[in-house]
Amino acid sequence: MGWSLGLVYAILFYTPFPLSIPLAIAGFILTNFYLKKIVVKRMNVISDRRSSSGPQSVNYSCINCGTNHSQAACPKCGSKMKGANFRS
Ligand SMILES: [Zn+2]
Repeated sequence: MGWSLGLVYAILFYTPFPLSIPLAIAGFILTNFYLKKIVVKRMNVISDRRSSSGPQSVNYSCINCGTNHSQAACPKCGSKMKGANFRS
């Protein structure tokens, strides 16, 4: 917001009076529109990061005894045979 107000003041200062008013308004609206776009983009990036780095939903279930675990080998029977278990 302060950024766009600075631009408006610059336009008011550097352009002659009758021209400066519509230019200042256009500049204000354009910069706000542009800043909103950036904010929306940042929000999307944040939500993307959140969804990708959330708690691990992929688990494994032992094929031998059916125990759900996320280790290389089954903690119950020691079997390394396991299937991916996608849970929410
Ligand atoms: Zn097992």
